Amino acid sequence: MTTVVWFKRDLRTRDHEPLAAAARFGEPVIPLYVVEDDYWQLPDTSERQWAFIQESLGDLDQQLRRAGNCLIVRKGSVTEVLRQLQASHNVQRVFCHQETGGQWTFERDRAIINWCNENNVEFREWNQFGVVRRLRNRDVWDKAWTELMRQPVQASPASIPASTLVQATRPDDRVPAFSQGGPCPDRQAGGSARGDKLLASFLERRCIGYQYNISSPLSAVKACSRLSPHIAYGTVSLREIYQWCKTTGDHRNTLPRKKKSLTSFRSRLHWHCHFIQKLEDEPELEFRAMHRELEGLKSGPNDSERLQRWQEGLTGWPLVDACMRALHHTGWINFRMRAMLMAVASYQLWLHWRDPALHLARMFTDFEPGIHYSQAQMQSGLTGINALRIYNPVLQSQKLDPNGEFIRRWIPELAGVPAEMIHTPWLMTPAQKERFGGNTYIAPVCDHEQAARVARKAVGDFRKQHVSREETGRVLERHGSRKGPVQRRPKLQPAKSSGQMSLFD
Ligand SMILES: Cc1cc2nc3c(=O)[nH]c(=O)nc-3n(C[C@H](O)[C@H](O)[C@H](O)COP(=O)(O)OP(=O)(O)OC[C@H]3O[C@@H](n4cnc5c(N)ncnc54)[C@H](O)[C@@H]3O)c2cc1C
Repeated sequence: MTTVVWFKRDLRTRDHEPLAAAARFGEPVIPLYVVEDDYWQLPDTSERQWAFIQESLGDLDQQLRRAGNCLIVRKGSVTEVLRQLQASHNVQRVFCHQETGGQWTFERDRAIINWCNENNVEFREWNQFGVVRRLRNRDVWDKAWTELMRQPVQASPASIPASTLVQATRPDDRVPAFSQGGPCPDRQAGGSARGDKLLASFLERRCIGYQYNISSPLSAVKACSRLSPHIAYGTVSLREIYQWCKTTGDHRNTLPRKKKSLTSFRSRLHWHCHFIQKLEDEPELEFRAMHRELEGLKSGPNDSERLQRWQEGLTGWPLVDACMRALHHTGWINFRMRAMLMAVASYQLWLHWRDPALHLARMFTDFEPGIHYSQAQMQSGLTGINALRIYNPVLQSQKLDPNGEFIRRWIPELAGVPAEMIHTPWLMTPAQKERFGGNTYIAPVCDHEQAARVARKAVGDFRKQHVSREETGRVLERHGSRKGPVQRRPKLQPAKSSGQMSLFD
């Protein structure tokens, strides 16, 4: 009897329960990855994500070879591939991890479960994140998450019996056809070995001062763990990261300031699953506002020129453009700047959230649908349970890049402009432009302060007229984090206060 272990966003052999369970039978195992062309045509996918996966598949293949097996890569629909493997190899079991993706992967998984049922093939899924299927009550979620994270980490199986008849395919032979995305010359590279190295360097030294250094796009590059694509594609297990982090933090020789940093980092691992749980509980979030009554806030098509200028890093607001251009080039930007990019699109540029969210998804090597769509909506004021955060791009720039170093790195048009003028180049006189350069940098798309005022008023007015306590209560009950007593009778969050919900609800 043969077991297929179907790899998706879990491209590793360590702490991989489906693989360990399959190996324990002592019967042939087919470790399978399927390149699904239709998936790679979706508007939130891109070549940079695939490139990371492709490198990770090569690394996974090496890990499997050390256990006497190898990775089988096929192209097409998973059901069709399983059908062929069953015909040739008497497949009796399909083991995999649960995935909380968008509608496409949800329907694909349903089709596979149906196929398995119809063909008497056992289908079994394991949970690798603290995301709970059919969660009835958010109050019990935190406890379930902690329990899962504390379960023992499984070693890679020493031996995984191979099926002699299946021909291996080199992962790079199977390149999908892309409709989206551009070059990403400084993308993070994939593979568990690289993920392990990142984790080690973070826990040894880089984590010190984490909570203070993650907001500036300059310091964040090294201060953040940079583990996000490895977590998103499972080249390193979240549980293993959590446990290493806890062991290091709890060690009696660990300095108190390092302990603090690691506690702050660990809370992000919790948010990872907290946000994915939102999409798991309400898959419609991929397409429409979490707070249903706020869906009507914007109607009609987006202003295509504004959208394009934002996408290309040509808004005329230096920090915003520098972040977008850095993101295009590297596939990554830190949390605060992701939030600012999304908020500027939604408020100052008054774009409907979905086009900007799709663009950012394509640009992120670490695209994770559950985090992404929930965060995109939160930064666009569409949850109804979080305070509005309208970022002032000039104040952010002065605070987080005071000397203009980051801006100069990514906007060559402003390379010669001194720090005191670089945050507001539109205020430079012709003589200053003549002297320092800056003539070729585009003028701002609009007056950001005025646009922010108009947006704040529009959102406030809409909320007063169209938003009910019932719907806000529903969102809070379903998606709000349970830090402190649960609010049963919510008030609408005022536009300026920090609100009662925690910052990252
Ligand atoms: C609009 C927007 C879209 C986002 N889209 C994604 C996405 O597609 N994929 C993604 O992994 N993260 C996303 N994030 C969350 C966050 O910005 C990234 O996880 C983080 O910047 C990744 O870098 P890091 O691994 O070095 O983070 P670290 O600060 O080192 O954090 C470690 C891990 O914790 C988790 N994490 C950190 N911050 C958050 C957060 N605010 N919410 C949920 N989980 C968090 C991630 O898994 C991250 O890898 C988004 C944030 C915003 C505002």
